Amino acid sequence: MSDHHLENFQTWAVIAVLQGTPLEEVAIKARVSEETLKHWLKALTEEAQHHLAADNLALELPVRDLAHALDNIGAYVFIKDLNGCYTYANRLVRELFSKNLIDIIGHTDHDFFSQDTVNDIEQHDQQVLREGITIRAEEHLRPVDGHELRIYWTVKIPLFDESGHIRGLCGISTDITERKQMEQALRDNQALLSTVLDNIGACVYMKAPDGRYLYANAAMAALLNRRPEQLIGRVDSDLFPQNTADHFAKLDQLAFTSQQKVAGMETFQLHHHEPLYYWSVKVPLQRDNGDMYALLGMSTDITERKRLEDELLRLATTDELTHLYNRRHFLTLSEQTLNRSRRYHEPLALLMCDIDFFKHINDTFGHAMGDLVLQQVAEIIKNTLRDTDIAGRIGGEEFAILLVQTRMEHAQEVAERLKTNIANSEIYLDDGHKVPLTISIGVATPVYPMETLATLLQHADQALYAAKRLGRNRVHLATEV
Ligand code: GH3
Ligand code: MG
Ligand code: MG
Repeated sequence: MSDHHLENFQTWAVIAVLQGTPLEEVAIKARVSEETLKHWLKALTEEAQHHLAADNLALELPVRDLAHALDNIGAYVFIKDLNGCYTYANRLVRELFSKNLIDIIGHTDHDFFSQDTVNDIEQHDQQVLREGITIRAEEHLRPVDGHELRIYWTVKIPLFDESGHIRGLCGISTDITERKQMEQALRDNQALLSTVLDNIGACVYMKAPDGRYLYANAAMAALLNRRPEQLIGRVDSDLFPQNTADHFAKLDQLAFTSQQKVAGMETFQLHHHEPLYYWSVKVPLQRDNGDMYALLGMSTDITERKRLEDELLRLATTDELTHLYNRRHFLTLSEQTLNRSRRYHEPLALLMCDIDFFKHINDTFGHAMGDLVLQQVAEIIKNTLRDTDIAGRIGGEEFAILLVQTRMEHAQEVAERLKTNIANSEIYLDDGHKVPLTISIGVATPVYPMETLATLLQHADQALYAAKRLGRNRVHLATEV
């Protein structure tokens, strides 16, 4: 008999004995002594036990390692049977329940979680056990003896037996309470930030170094009649006329190149509306390594303030009756102009004008008519001068005019023209009577470098009084004094 046959033969004999066939019967059939049969029996049993022990060891080691790993995995791992009874719970679960494994096995979640939170778990468990699907879901749980509701992210996997029937489930849960709280805090912060940004009453925006919008608040979007997201990725030349985009680019560039906060006025017009004025603050945003990654801009509409400022300036500098410059502003501008003309050796001329017999006009035709005459004279002065010339009402019915870059000969011509235009002006009373109106003018030009505004005014005044003395309705030059 070969070794192989012998082995099979021995196995058959041993199995027969193990199955209950009397030893002597098997020995007869196998034609061996009962002693030999016993020896085979002993040897094979030992070998089988040896194999079994080795198998167990091979299985046991990984199981032990796995159990150790599961206890230190940082997640809650558990196995439940079809009835929802625990058959395994890792260390975190045991610690959560404050129980040993032996006190957990065979128990359900009703023993560990408060009743109002168990429903959630049971529903998920039922779904896994009934439908054999893996589910991933949030579970909000409160331990029976605890107050704090904690939030878990749970994955539940169905477990099957060899014939494919569901026999339970394995669950892995992570505590995400803190993460959820942080997410909520972050959402709250973002909501706060966007509430602030959208109600701040200014355009707030962020642009990348290439000029593309990374962010725009509601005010910015409303200005352009779009939604904020429609601005993202666009550049100013997509949104504004090219000259406006170029204008904005100046302050943007300054912020990027200076690497500092910059501020300035920006003005633009949208669709032929009135010009808008914005005060813009632009802050370059830098990463830790110094790289500039964006520009934060805040632009406040100051159109109304600018209008009020302009109005205040106008009120402070002009004469209300005639809309010429008032005395103070005329003197300020004259001082500046004289200084500039002196520096550049440019000619300049001052005309001092006084209405003739104005008292008589007032007395004869009334104060209101006197006012009308003053307005008429101012109008004629404006129409006779160039835009660059400076005219002011410096007294009751006295006007002063500064002719820039003008020599005496030309100044004289202008003065004569003005005198004539006023004499030719026609102001009628209601009854058809013409109001007589003439003006006398003294003309002076500065002698550089010692001439001051005070002396120049004095010279012009002297020339004016000479004109009065010589019969009025005439022009007199200071050089003739
Ligand atoms: P002359 O030719 O010498 O200049 O004679 P005149 O009458 O113009 O004399 P004067 O320049 O001294 O008189 C100025 C008058 O102007 C006195 C004042 O009643 C009048 N007046 C001053 N301010 C106003 C004003 O705002 N409105 C009116 N209606 N009259 C004014
Ligand atoms: Mg006068
Ligand atoms: Mg007068």
